[in-house]
Amino acid sequence: MNDRLLTMDAAIVGGGLAGLTAAAYLAKAGLRVVLFEKAHALGGRATTEIRQEFYFNLGPHALFQQGEAVQILRELGVPFSGRRPGASGGYAILHGEKHTLPGGLVSLLTTSLFGLAGKLETAKLLGAIQKFDARAVDDLTVAQWLEREIQQPTVRDLVQALFRVASYANDPARQSAGAALAQLQMAFGGGVLYVDGGWQTLVDGLRKVAEEAGAQIVTSARVAAIEHDQQVRGVRLETGEFYPAASVVVAAGPTAAASLLAHPEQTPLPTWAQAALPIRAACLDLALKSLPQTHVTFALGIDQPLYFSVHSAAAKLAPAGGVLLHVAKYLPTGVDSDPKAILELEALTDLLQPGWRDQVVHRRFLPGLLVSHGLTTAAQGGLKGRPSPVVPGVAGLYVAGDWVGPAGSLTDVSAASARQAAELIIGARHELSAAA
Ligand SMILES: Cc1cc2nc3c(=O)[nH]c(=O)nc-3n(C[C@H](O)[C@H](O)[C@H](O)COP(=O)(O)OP(=O)(O)OC[C@H]3O[C@@H](n4cnc5c(N)ncnc54)[C@H](O)[C@@H]3O)c2cc1C
Repeated sequence: MNDRLLTMDAAIVGGGLAGLTAAAYLAKAGLRVVLFEKAHALGGRATTEIRQEFYFNLGPHALFQQGEAVQILRELGVPFSGRRPGASGGYAILHGEKHTLPGGLVSLLTTSLFGLAGKLETAKLLGAIQKFDARAVDDLTVAQWLEREIQQPTVRDLVQALFRVASYANDPARQSAGAALAQLQMAFGGGVLYVDGGWQTLVDGLRKVAEEAGAQIVTSARVAAIEHDQQVRGVRLETGEFYPAASVVVAAGPTAAASLLAHPEQTPLPTWAQAALPIRAACLDLALKSLPQTHVTFALGIDQPLYFSVHSAAAKLAPAGGVLLHVAKYLPTGVDSDPKAILELEALTDLLQPGWRDQVVHRRFLPGLLVSHGLTTAAQGGLKGRPSPVVPGVAGLYVAGDWVGPAGSLTDVSAASARQAAELIIGARHELSAAA
C-alpha cells in the first residue's frame, strides 16, 4: 500500500463533464487537485466512439445554447463548434403516420396533424410559451399543467412531446411542470447545437484546460472509499492507495456517492439516493452510407415517446456523403431497459427513411442508457428541491452532477453544480489561508 503524503486541496471522483469541470475551476484557482476516473478513458456519458470515421455520441446529444454548460465551456476557454439543426422540415408522427411538425407559422397552417381548432390553440400556446412563469408551476405535475392549460388532446400530446425532447423525461404524472417549462423555454429561446466531432471534443477540451492548469488526472482508477470522520480525510482507491485530501467532490451518481462513505447515515446521501428517479432512453445509433430521403432529418412521436434526428445534417460527425443519425425512445421512469424498443425504433426509421437498411455502415442499439440521475419532480418542488452540492454531516464533502443544484437540467446542471462545488472549495480554502 502506498499512502500519498501530500494532502491535496481536492480529490474528484469521476471524469465525466462534471468532474472535469470541477477539476478545471479548482486547478485554475491554483488549488492542488487530483481526479480519478474508474474507466480507462474520460468522458462518462459524454464519450464519443469513432467507427470508420463516424462519430457516435452515446445516443442523441445536443447542447442548449442558452444553458449553463455552454456558458461554462466558454468561461473556461474550451473550444467547440457545431450547428443548430434546421427548424423546418420536421415531422410529427401520429397513429403511425407522418405529418408536418408545426415549427412556425407556415408549417402550422399546412400541417394535417390537427384541424382549425387545434391550429389556433397551438398558435396561441406556442406564441405565449416564453411568457409563462415557470417557477409558479414548480409544484404542479406536467399532466396537471397540460390538463389546465390545453383543451385539444392532440395539442396536449404535441406539447408533451416537446417537453420530452427538451428534458428527456417521460413521466408527466411526476415531472415538475415548472422544470419542464423552463427547459422548453430555454430550448425555444436559444435552440440547440449539435457538436462537431461529438461531445468527446468537450471532454478533451476540459481535460486540456484542467491539466494545463495543473490538475492531475488518473484514469483506470476506481475510488473504493472516501475516508472521513466529521471531516473528509481523503480517498482510497480499490488498489488500496490512499490520497489525503481536504475536500472531495463526488461527480458520479447519488447511489455511488452514498456507497463510498463508511458512515453514509451521517449525511443525507442515502435519502438523496433513494429519492432520485433515473431518466433512461433506448437508443439506436446509425451510420449510413447515404440518406434515402435527404429532406427528412427530424421527427417526433406525438402519441409515442419517440425521437429521430439526423445529427450529421448539422454537425461534422460523418465522412463525406455519410450520415450519422439517432433514433430514441424515452423510457417511462422505473423502466431500466427496453430490449423490444429496437422494433419500434426500426419501424420509425422504415417510415421516415425506407431503404435505410441497405445503407448501414455501422449500427448500435443501447436498450437502457442512463440520461439523467434525477427526474425533477413536482413533489420536490421543481428545480429548487434538488440536493445542494454541499453534503451536510461531513465537512469538505461535495457532490456534482445532473441531480444536484437548481440550475437547469442534464449537462447544464452537471456543469453548473460542478462549478458551484469548486467555488465553495475555493472560498473555503481562501478563508483558511486568510485565517492562518
Ligand atoms: C442518450 C443520452 C442522451 C443525452 N442527451 C443530452 C442532451 O441532448 N443534452 C444534454 O445536455 N445532456 C444530454 N445527456 C446527458 C449528458 O450526457 C450528461 O448530463 C453528462 O454527460 C453527465 O456528466 P457527469 O459528469 O455528470 O456524469 P457522467 O458522465 O456519468 O460521469 C460520471 C463518471 O464517474 C465515473 N465514476 C463513477 N464512480 C466512480 C468511482 N467510484 N471511481 C472513479 N470514477 C467513478 C464514471 O465512470 C463516469 O465516467 C444525454 C445522456 C444520454 C445517455
